[in-house]
Amino acid sequence: MEIPEGEKMTRVNNWQLRREMDYPYKESRPDRQFAAVFNINRCIGCQTCTMACKSTWTFNKGQEHMWWNNVETKPFGGYPQHWDVKLLEKLGPQKWEKGEGDSGKTYQGKTIFEAAPKGEVALGYLPEDKEWRFPNIYEDTSTPWKDKATLPSHDTFFFYLQRICNHCTYPACAAACPRKAIYKRKEDGIVLIDQERCRGYRKCVEQCPYKKPMYNPQTRISEKCIACYPRVEQDTVTRCIAACVGKIRLQGWINLPEKIEADNPMDYLVHVAKVALPSYPQFGTEPNVFYIPPRWVPRGYLKQLFGPGVENAIERYSDPDPDLLGLLQLFGTTQQIIEKFRVTEKDAIGYDAHKREIIRVPLEDPIVIRPPIYHNIT
Ligand code: SF4
Ligand code: SF4
Repeated sequence: MEIPEGEKMTRVNNWQLRREMDYPYKESRPDRQFAAVFNINRCIGCQTCTMACKSTWTFNKGQEHMWWNNVETKPFGGYPQHWDVKLLEKLGPQKWEKGEGDSGKTYQGKTIFEAAPKGEVALGYLPEDKEWRFPNIYEDTSTPWKDKATLPSHDTFFFYLQRICNHCTYPACAAACPRKAIYKRKEDGIVLIDQERCRGYRKCVEQCPYKKPMYNPQTRISEKCIACYPRVEQDTVTRCIAACVGKIRLQGWINLPEKIEADNPMDYLVHVAKVALPSYPQFGTEPNVFYIPPRWVPRGYLKQLFGPGVENAIERYSDPDPDLLGLLQLFGTTQQIIEKFRVTEKDAIGYDAHKREIIRVPLEDPIVIRPPIYHNIT
């Protein structure tokens, strides 16, 4: 990515906002973009994904507080604590255009790049050490909080939010780094920190709105989720996705809305059925992890978190068409990346990049009634 000469910001297209926005680098999209969809409705909060990631990547000294994959209980939980509430308060009003229909609305507020204080690339804050102390604080807490001075008040509800780096199209971490140590790979859109170049200034920790880069006090450099790129290079899904007990996760490649391939699972879920939505699209980084919102949560809360497409997403998910129903069956069924899918009257089928069948799941499990066995007791 190259900063245009003589300019601080350039204009780029953000399809999630349905408008152009300011960003310090020219628009430059990868050859293909890593993406994932997490179905919140199915998550059981078992943290198997969290431990699969931890035991693979962050078990060394200095990495104790690092949870590249974490599952937090909303509305009160967060790692670091209150990461989203703190930034939302700083960002100010986040309005979407009024009008008919939900998913076609344009964002009218400011993104974190447009709201950047003078001399900064993006709006952000650096969490204090104590905010990283409890990775799963307020786990399973649904009761409205009494102490309104420290926590926002909510109705009685909770749900699990599964969080990894979003491998954003417009990464704030990369924009913020004064060493240009963070880069987005052209071959798959995965965002990485060059461990040789990083000097631990922590600008990425400060300006990633999702707080996914983490500082290693032992090595004095920052680290983050690497989307298990050695596995992705072998057409294999990440560790958190492979290990998911609830089968809530599906990994793939996402296209722009004007280049949709309807047999591409990510495109179908995000662009065709519109059941999967980005988290806090108003931040403006164009995140590439998408969520099927939980059906039981107050809509106002969900709209702030997932944008204006929430009602439509829940409606479609609650009454799925045959293709969507079939595709939902393919979540968590294979360690290979499903690049294409097809649904017949009986099966949902997943294909690899070479259009070879890699998984076939029946839409309805056969019922087998075994004849009773009687033992003669004498
Ligand atoms: S989620 Fe944060 S760390 Fe990951 S690419 Fe986006 S801005 Fe960077
Ligand atoms: S492994 Fe799957 S079901 Fe368990 S917490 Fe993680 S995302 Fe949820």
